[in-house]
Amino acid sequence: MIKAYAVNEPKGKLEPFEYDPGVLGDNEVEIDVNYCGICYSDLSMIDNEWGFTQYPLVPGHEVVGTVSSIGSDVSNLRIGDYVGLGWHSGYCMTCSSCMSGDHNLCSSAQGTIVSHHGGFADKVRAQAASVIKLPENLDKESAGPLFCGGITVFNPLIQFDVKPTDKVGVIGIGGLGHMAVEFLKAWGCEITAFTSSEKKKTEAIKLGADRTLDSRDTSEIAAAAGSFDFIMSTVNVTLDWNTYISTLKPKGRLHFVGATLEPLDIAVFPLIGGQRSVSGSPVGSPETIAKMLAFAVQHNIKPVIEKYSFDKINDAIERLRSGKAHYRIVLTR
Ligand code: NAP
Ligand code: ZN
Repeated sequence: MIKAYAVNEPKGKLEPFEYDPGVLGDNEVEIDVNYCGICYSDLSMIDNEWGFTQYPLVPGHEVVGTVSSIGSDVSNLRIGDYVGLGWHSGYCMTCSSCMSGDHNLCSSAQGTIVSHHGGFADKVRAQAASVIKLPENLDKESAGPLFCGGITVFNPLIQFDVKPTDKVGVIGIGGLGHMAVEFLKAWGCEITAFTSSEKKKTEAIKLGADRTLDSRDTSEIAAAAGSFDFIMSTVNVTLDWNTYISTLKPKGRLHFVGATLEPLDIAVFPLIGGQRSVSGSPVGSPETIAKMLAFAVQHNIKPVIEKYSFDKINDAIERLRSGKAHYRIVLTR
């Protein structure tokens, strides 16, 4: 039996929950969970904000632990390997996205916490292809958040060929946003952090931002017209997107990784006139995750974490809900 924490209703508390995972699949591994980050997506799933949560829900998709069992067809991992698991716990492996290395775009990818029990547990299972071995020198305690938040903000740098000479904006300095600033600093970009928090203005500079702007002050943002090659939004709220688009250079891009629920109300002429783009992307492929981990080791990039023990899981969730987390909460055993 796997001993987990599950939520049984929208906005419910996490309660101890046991389940029988059945026979381990030939291409699956079982991971003993040592650490698990808490992403805002866990909260959105707990609250059924996206409308597809199935209860009981075992959240947790920023897992770090050791492989404790492997299926008979697994060749990329061994028992005892230190590994990580993120938003996806399996892919079809045969569609054109998987065959092109874009596993994160596979339309039948298995979510780790969607119709599957996740990492708020002593063990979690996943297809071996979705489980990535940690590089030797990566700090294990803080590595979990790289597997969802980290890859989500790193992947766009690869997908859209962000250059070290680019001027980049990051909207929202939370779990995802603070890692975006850390990656972009090492990438060599000039970084503007857009935050709604007075306190985080100083903190963002310490993380590597070159300057900060108030993410909700339209006139302050408008004054930066024509400045940015690339802006990444990590917020889940609605901001003044048209003003943000006005701060893009011609050919600039406003890229969404934050799951804003309300539809975007965007004027088309500034997109046409400046050949600007608006886009979005989900996490990243196993190959890009491995690339990100190597980059993190090379540049000594670590998520800034607050630790909670698994038995304080409900306090940890409330802390994230309050918006006070600095910057990513990690559950530790
Ligand atoms: P988080 O730690 O709560 O950070 C979100 C940040 O948004 C906050 O720190 C805050 O930044 C800003 N924010 C929140 N409320 C705001 C408001 N009313 N006005 C202005 N700014 C506000 O959450 P997270 O874990 O980073 O996740 C962020 C989003 O990304 C969520 O929607 C999550 O579901 C999504 N996500 C998407 C993917 C993907 O694959 N695309 C992967 C992971 C997560 P400031 O304090 O600096 O203003
Ligand atoms: Zn996540």
